[in-house]
Amino acid sequence: MTRGMRWDAVVVGGGPAGSVVALQLARGGARVLVLDRARFPRDKPCSEYLSPAATPLLSRLDPELIPEIERASPGRLYGMRVVAPDGCDVVGRFAAPHRFPAPAPFGYALPRTVLDSLLLAAAARAGAEIEEGSAVEELLYDQGAVAGVVTAGRAVRARVTVGADGLRSIVARRLGLRGGGPPRRLAFAAHYRGVADMGDRGEMHIGRPGYVGLGPVGDGVTTVALVLPLETARQRAAALRGGGLTAELARFPALRGRFDSATMVRAVLATGPFAQWSRRAVAPGGGALLVGDAADFFDPFTGQGLYSALRGAELAATTLVAALAAVPRGPLPEATLHPYVAARRSAFAGKWILERLIGVGVGWPWLAGRVVRRLARLPELADLLVGATGNIVPPGAVLAPSTLVRFLL
Ligand SMILES: Cc1cc2nc3c(=O)[nH]c(=O)nc-3n(C[C@H](O)[C@H](O)[C@H](O)COP(=O)(O)OP(=O)(O)OC[C@H]3O[C@@H](n4cnc5c(N)ncnc54)[C@H](O)[C@@H]3O)c2cc1C
Repeated sequence: MTRGMRWDAVVVGGGPAGSVVALQLARGGARVLVLDRARFPRDKPCSEYLSPAATPLLSRLDPELIPEIERASPGRLYGMRVVAPDGCDVVGRFAAPHRFPAPAPFGYALPRTVLDSLLLAAAARAGAEIEEGSAVEELLYDQGAVAGVVTAGRAVRARVTVGADGLRSIVARRLGLRGGGPPRRLAFAAHYRGVADMGDRGEMHIGRPGYVGLGPVGDGVTTVALVLPLETARQRAAALRGGGLTAELARFPALRGRFDSATMVRAVLATGPFAQWSRRAVAPGGGALLVGDAADFFDPFTGQGLYSALRGAELAATTLVAALAAVPRGPLPEATLHPYVAARRSAFAGKWILERLIGVGVGWPWLAGRVVRRLARLPELADLLVGATGNIVPPGAVLAPSTLVRFLL
């Protein structure tokens, strides 16, 4: 133990990324404190679907997690239906007859109030200490390296600070690493009961402008997230927050009539703007790194944020356990954190390109319409693309030039 430092790691944010880093660090023998400004169960604007690749990841983290998720009666999504602005649609399945076997034929979908509480409880079970209602305000420094945080005027010293504090990460902002850029979009998310014709897949409806994602999250509830360009969203924000979301959904041709008997059962939550990212995932000078949305969040269309948060947290924890063992005391030097940067690049480089191509493409309704009509004629290509967004198919299999041209020609 470093003199004056009670904690090996302080994790800022107890969402999926923070919980998984904390769980694995605690398992690795580190003394870990998680600080979250919220009290759990807390909500988070999200379409609330875990890609199928998350299932084996959660199983290896803690064998209790999947049975706990099952007991929460989640939705099960076997694929995605994508609807173009003109109503033309295509369905892609996760388990499909291509050469990439799905680790599970479906992805779970459940309210974030439930999922995030289960993950945080798993971190506590592994030995992490959790402090809710503690907002981090500032970082502490020791000879140029981050050496902990300040919460409610109290200094919490630690050998490494993990910024897992989401889209508007205070850790990334205090490090001066936060950047953002197009497409600038805001999201409005709510829960409805009684939406007509919900099947066992998610749906993405592309509009002029924006798009809406919906899917079953169990117990007859559908989660709905409307994403709009920043300017449009600002003009309509008051109405959308005040119950105008249902009227807004009627602008999407294939949603007309499906909400006639539906009731909103959770108020609208708003978030954004995205895209936001950190120029580096590791603090210059060492002592801190960023995971999950605090590291980067481009756009929700591909529904990969949760898996990326969980997988990125695993990679961060692997680096941190090794670094804490290798360096006996004091804040972790920047060089000891670099394996995390390399591991992230190797795990996510293809995903970063794919989510950018798709995220930008859905902002061009004529292009989206053309691709959807093309996919409707080539179902094996639709399966491949949906498999890639489900983290089953390696992005490289979609990004190969010979495959890319098939989307358009
Ligand atoms: C509209 C929308 C739909 C989406 N749909 C999907 C989907 O269907 N599937 C999917 O995989 N991903 C989806 N995502 C992405 C997903 O929600 C995120 O990628 C995921 O929540 C990232 O997890 P995280 O742990 O990094 O951050 P978060 O889940 O945001 O957790 C951050 C935590 O940090 C805490 N915190 C923040 N600031 C402080 C502070 N100063 N001090 C202490 N604590 C703090 C917060 O209270 C919170 O608990 C969607 C995103 C949006 C916007």
